[in-house]
Amino acid sequence: MKKRLFTLLLAVSGIAAEAQQVWTDDLILTPERSNFEKTSSYGDVMNFINTIKAKSQDIQVTSIGKSTLGKDIPLLILSHPSISTPEQAKASGKPVIYIQGNIHGGEVDGKEAILVLLRDILLGNKKNLLDNQVILFLPIYNTDGNDKMAPGLRPSQENSPLETGIRENGQGLDLNRDGIKMETPETEALIRNVITAWDPQVTVDLHTTNGTWHGYSLTWAPSYLYAGEPATYRYTNDVMLPAITRNVKEKNGLFFGPFGDFNVREGWPVKNFYTYNHHPRYIINQLGLRNRMAILSESFAHERFYQRIYSTYTFVNEILLHFNQHGKEIARINQEAEAAAIRNVIENAGKATKGVRFKMVPTSQQLNGFRSYQYTSFTKADGSKSWIKNGNIVTYDDVNYYGAFKDTVQSTVPQGYIIPAAQSAIAEHLIKQGVKLEKIEKDQTIEATVFVVEKFTKAQRKFEGHNMASAEGHFETVTKKVLKGDFKVDMAQPLTNLIFYMLEPQSDDGLLNWNFFDSYLEQNGVNTKPVEFPVYKYAVWPTPETQKTRKK
Ligand SMILES: [Zn+2]
Repeated sequence: MKKRLFTLLLAVSGIAAEAQQVWTDDLILTPERSNFEKTSSYGDVMNFINTIKAKSQDIQVTSIGKSTLGKDIPLLILSHPSISTPEQAKASGKPVIYIQGNIHGGEVDGKEAILVLLRDILLGNKKNLLDNQVILFLPIYNTDGNDKMAPGLRPSQENSPLETGIRENGQGLDLNRDGIKMETPETEALIRNVITAWDPQVTVDLHTTNGTWHGYSLTWAPSYLYAGEPATYRYTNDVMLPAITRNVKEKNGLFFGPFGDFNVREGWPVKNFYTYNHHPRYIINQLGLRNRMAILSESFAHERFYQRIYSTYTFVNEILLHFNQHGKEIARINQEAEAAAIRNVIENAGKATKGVRFKMVPTSQQLNGFRSYQYTSFTKADGSKSWIKNGNIVTYDDVNYYGAFKDTVQSTVPQGYIIPAAQSAIAEHLIKQGVKLEKIEKDQTIEATVFVVEKFTKAQRKFEGHNMASAEGHFETVTKKVLKGDFKVDMAQPLTNLIFYMLEPQSDDGLLNWNFFDSYLEQNGVNTKPVEFPVYKYAVWPTPETQKTRKK
């Protein structure tokens, strides 16, 4: 009776009813089953994946590797018709997109949103999302952190769900600070078995914010790749994300916007909104240096769990709709960025410069209609001023958005670097990152540029287990004997911008910062006298004969 009335009402009002999905009991997720009080454990996720796999032809499940505590990290390959290898993806002609959840084990919305989408794409009404793309889903990247569940670990999440896991992996490290130093098995597996193997054109990393009371259900950021090629950033920031933001407002009534935090102690109304850092230690930023598009997604911590899953689901769904339509164009832009990076080395090595240190600056356009919960001031008993928020969402104009970066130190792009054989650990690290290098076959003399470290500083406080280092000094042109067994890194290769950021000694997120050169520099007396940085660069290879004799 009720049902008939409902159908009648729909017919009268002209609303198109969406086809009702009827799931069997085994397809109900942990949050759905628990009235959103619980999030899925690793075991729940694996059971759900296996259930789906038994019901669909269009999914393959593989492992990218094992976590610190020995759990397989599952990668789901969605394609129609089904494929299981990167070679098959290439042969299909369909570009690959990669969506990752749970890099921070306490930020659980992405994990659940991916599982809901998995169900809808393979068994529900979103099969069209497999028309023109291969989708890689990795719902639970930080498997170990996810399962260390306890109440109160995410105080800004309103106890919704009641328990979450922890931010760090099984070694106590933050996987989203590990992109350069690669000290975790998770990062190593991600770079080797997803990023390098599958070469996704777009990567999406799903988080939950840490607590600023802005008025957006979800905020996003493109890859900050100011040391890279700008085309991938421009498309992501100026085309794809604005289109998606408009769509979710029109279709779902959701407000999304650029990522950031404000500091109410700067006064009210809000004047400044600050994004996060540009460093490639963050996976999303690093992908820009790899000439690929990437998106950071941050659902709003203070909304309830079910709302955050929905916001994240809606965002990922729109990204997949966009990629399904524009994937080939995106792949072309990425390819052109890669070619431009290589061309810059071939044509401008020894002349062109790029930033190696950056500071955050406001974008040229201010934010208008910026949404925030409202704050009002009051005077405390001691006479000082403080702020309280209320439930009103208000909008403000002319908010400075610190969402851009300006270089403060630049360095010359070389044709290549020489890594002496004694520094083979550096060469091995580059190989882990996917860099191509070659061994020198016979001794020879070249004109080289060396960096002389005059000041070597280390942070007092540990960060991710490191007293991070930085170097100041100057470059000198010298004649160098390159020896058989040394390593040569030709910069005319796809990862050229990442290599530059890792190897430049003045970089703010390179291998020197992460203590890869501490023992060499300290053993050579850097604390009492200038020391030559062991990795040096050249502008021309091989050095023309006339130049070899010019300098001693
Ligand atoms: Zn996070």
